Amino acid sequence: MSHLQQTDNTYVAHTYARFPVSILSGKGSEVFDENGKRYIDMGSGIGVTAFGIADDAWVAAVTEQLNKVQHMSNLYYTSPCARLAELLCTRTGMKKVFFSNSGAEANECAIKAARKYAAEKKGPEYNVIVTLQNSFHGRTLTTLSATGQDKFHELFQPLTPGFIHVPANDLDAMKEALSNHKVAGILMECVQGEGGVIALNADYIQGVAALAKEQDVLLMIDEVQTGNGRTGALYAYMNFGITPDVVSTAKGLGGGLPLGATLLGEKVETIFAPGDHGSTFGGNPVACAGAVNLIERMDEALLHEVKEKSNYIFGALKDAPGVKSVSGMGLMIGIETVRPAADVIRECMEAGVLCLSAKTKVRLLPALNIPMETLKEAIEILKRVCAKEACI
Ligand SMILES: *Cc1c(COP(=O)(O)O)cnc(C)c1O
Repeated sequence: MSHLQQTDNTYVAHTYARFPVSILSGKGSEVFDENGKRYIDMGSGIGVTAFGIADDAWVAAVTEQLNKVQHMSNLYYTSPCARLAELLCTRTGMKKVFFSNSGAEANECAIKAARKYAAEKKGPEYNVIVTLQNSFHGRTLTTLSATGQDKFHELFQPLTPGFIHVPANDLDAMKEALSNHKVAGILMECVQGEGGVIALNADYIQGVAALAKEQDVLLMIDEVQTGNGRTGALYAYMNFGITPDVVSTAKGLGGGLPLGATLLGEKVETIFAPGDHGSTFGGNPVACAGAVNLIERMDEALLHEVKEKSNYIFGALKDAPGVKSVSGMGLMIGIETVRPAADVIRECMEAGVLCLSAKTKVRLLPALNIPMETLKEAIEILKRVCAKEACI
């Protein structure tokens, strides 16, 4: 263990089981450790570095803003914040944006919007938020309550009340929840990321959207992981032809700087009045200047590229020895392996490929612009590791 790793283990809270690797530098989809060893980055910091490490255009946009104004608080107007909000609304049809610093905060804002909307429209007893089993919505106490996985709840009782979890892809269960509870909103991911990279059925997503509209319950789509080009559409909901009332996003939006956004549709456009919600760092000009650059480059050509790379990965891994199944959408991929995922991930790392896990699967979230030859190199290594011992 290196000195750096010892210091970290001594002084940083043990909330993460880190791999014994320290990354010192990188470019695009390649990173280098303390010993100069090269790795292909198939995780992009959990779907954050959308255009890879130290991407030139993003670095230029961030640096330019850093040399002008790095922060002014939300008491004043700053240009990147306004430009990013305009860009997000133009590209989605949503009406307003609240900026924060993380996915959990983006969801907190969505939940507050739903509670206030329902309280004003139907009465304060309409405060229940329905989410799906196996979902993930964040680590704050309220977004933990929203998260439909008991293992995250156990040690932190009591959680925020007013959340119920229903099975995914079961429209009757959703109908029942809406008639048995006084519901303010529904919060769900189109592809459950942490839950194992599971795409929901299109007819389920469309069915939920129709129910929400019918009953004037807010439909809130958590696009923290699926958003910003990840699935081959700018936001995953766009693959399904639905119109959410609220969209929350973060991860790839900031490209590596902390940035969360909650997009508010027509129904909740004016739900917040001054003082209702806020964030000291939210809409930070440096983070927003970087995001403007990234969103502007997430055009049709890039989204097409994402789909092509996705097709390549699905094709290469489907029926590969040692691979049981491949799930997900775009460049958000879950792989069920014959060998334990932890062994596959460790051996890939030794062979120079960084992969993630999601539950019992190997998860891939490469940069959207990963060069095809680098992607092929990584997939060949992954295939070799999966096939080891698998045929016996
Ligand atoms: C990562 C994630 C979050 C939490 O985001 P943070 O930035 O870690 O707070 C919320 N929802 C989904 C779907 C996520 O993948």
